[in-house]
Amino acid sequence: MEDCLFCKIITGEMDTDFVYEDDKVVVFKDINPQAPVHLLIVPKKHISTLTELKDEDYSLIGHIYKVANRLAEENAIADDGFRIVSNCQEKGGQTVFHIHFHLLGGRNMQWPPG
Ligand code: AMP
Ligand code: ZN
Repeated sequence: MEDCLFCKIITGEMDTDFVYEDDKVVVFKDINPQAPVHLLIVPKKHISTLTELKDEDYSLIGHIYKVANRLAEENAIADDGFRIVSNCQEKGGQTVFHIHFHLLGGRNMQWPPG
């Protein structure tokens, strides 16, 4: 995906420090953090938005939640609590069209979200 920002980060075309990487995902800090801990968990496979997920992709989503729990532990937000957000399409607030999961923690979260 030539014009995809997150594909460029994944391939190294855009220099970004990964806080975690395995064969399925990369994780890096959000450039505009909304909480003391704000990480983006991003699958290496380009999937533009959640509604594009195919049957074979759902195990990847489970893996992402496993990685999120691990990172929550490592960032000392597992006990107090955290939030995982994935925005879908424009009205859902999605701005980068390569699916990703925000892991937010380190402060009290409000509900309902804006
Ligand atoms: P969303 O609006 O849910 O699609 O989330 C996209 C997120 O990507 C936003 O929180 C941005 O701050 C973040 N972002 C955009 N460009 C970069 C970048 N180069 N490095 C890290 N995070 C980025
Ligand atoms: Zn992409």
